[in-house]
Amino acid sequence: MPGEATETVPVTEQEMQQPQAETGSGTESDSDESVPDLEEQDSAQTQTQQAQLTAGKPLQTNSRLLCLAPELDAASKLLRIGGRLRRCEEIEPESMHPIILDPRHPVSTLLIKDYDTKLFHPGPERILAEMRRKYWILRGREAIRRYQRKDCPVCQKFRKTPQIPRMADLPPPRLRLFKPAFYSTGIDCFGPYSVKIGRRGEKRWGILFKCMTIRAVYIDLLPRLDTDSFLMALRRFIARRGKPFEVLCDQGTNFKGGERELHQTYAELVPELQEQLASQKIIFRFNPPHAPHFGGCWEREIRSLKQALQVTLGTQPIPEETLQTVLIEIEGILNSKPLGYTSSNASDPDPITPNSLLMGRPDSSLPQVMYPQSELLSRRRWRHSQIIADHFWKRFIKIYLPGLQTRSKWQRESPDIKVGTTVMIVDPQFPRALWPIGQISQVFPGFDNRIRTVEVKVKDKSYVRPVAKVVQLPAIPD
Ligand SMILES: [Zn+2]
Repeated sequence: MPGEATETVPVTEQEMQQPQAETGSGTESDSDESVPDLEEQDSAQTQTQQAQLTAGKPLQTNSRLLCLAPELDAASKLLRIGGRLRRCEEIEPESMHPIILDPRHPVSTLLIKDYDTKLFHPGPERILAEMRRKYWILRGREAIRRYQRKDCPVCQKFRKTPQIPRMADLPPPRLRLFKPAFYSTGIDCFGPYSVKIGRRGEKRWGILFKCMTIRAVYIDLLPRLDTDSFLMALRRFIARRGKPFEVLCDQGTNFKGGERELHQTYAELVPELQEQLASQKIIFRFNPPHAPHFGGCWEREIRSLKQALQVTLGTQPIPEETLQTVLIEIEGILNSKPLGYTSSNASDPDPITPNSLLMGRPDSSLPQVMYPQSELLSRRRWRHSQIIADHFWKRFIKIYLPGLQTRSKWQRESPDIKVGTTVMIVDPQFPRALWPIGQISQVFPGFDNRIRTVEVKVKDKSYVRPVAKVVQLPAIPD
């Protein structure tokens, strides 16, 4: 196959001598020039080099071509690689002395396009290897990559990643300063966990209220997933922490296994909840679907918490009392976690934790003792919950810490996406080839006029998606 690819390249050396006639897009007036320019800025140098070679003189010592040991092909007046393979009898003379080409020249682009199509859009390395049998494009890898990324629609469809708008300024719920804790509250449900009641096993869910400004949490247990149970949890929450001004709800979708049940019930609950909360004058807001990143790093912290809980409690049925204690201990742990960077310098003041704002002192001062694993079977139930909390803490650190490394993402400005752009919707549940392709029918500018949410029309359906979950494609020609 590789041999075939080289033989079927339609551009002949004669055509190469007349690039303008071939492409019709050249602007330079060098149609009668036999050697394509290197880079535009290099062209003067190249011409001197060509002249030097024609005259049989050696190249200047600072020439970029020097390491290729170029030779002028007298018959075709093309520059070829001299190379070091002259004495090899196995390979054809063409591969022994490939033609040197300028990466920006239209002919080079046409050649790259041809190889890319014939080889069914492989990685740039493969194309480069195939091309080198006949052509030596200067800085070829880069040229091929540029072509695949910018010009080839097929490559873009298979490899392009979503163009992500610059990270937004913090939303107002995260910035309600000088307001009491939990003024702006996010809710998250998680679970289920199995509890032992006598000999029966039952399911319990956790509900987490998170303060969007000071990152304090409040965790409670839900015996059932219905509106009543939820509203009672909310009443308990309000009684202890005060009525929130607004409640934010993240409609996550990446649910797996047991979480699907939770998600379905949750979705059914929402309209009823909205009504109930409105009657209590609490504002209820949604994040756009499919965007767990909308809550930022705080959201990731909550996700790590849920994961760590799942790992720690996942399989073992425990008494309800123990579960409740574990959850509230975790609440304590999270609320005594410093907000932001902690200095390792002992003379620095104590770090601020949510607890310093909730309680007026830094720590809930839970006795943190590490118990050995064997104590898990202990008859003392308070100790049992302590051990589970220890395990949780270890897991949480393991899951959460690596995530912090990637916080500094999405810093670059990119042009806003426009109505009418052809896009592909990222759907991790399906292979890439099945991702729906549609056109942007509407854009929703944020408060800073950047577009982070769009509506995509696919056939006769419309989907609202964050820009980070769509891949822009070149327009489909009619
Ligand atoms: Zn391609």
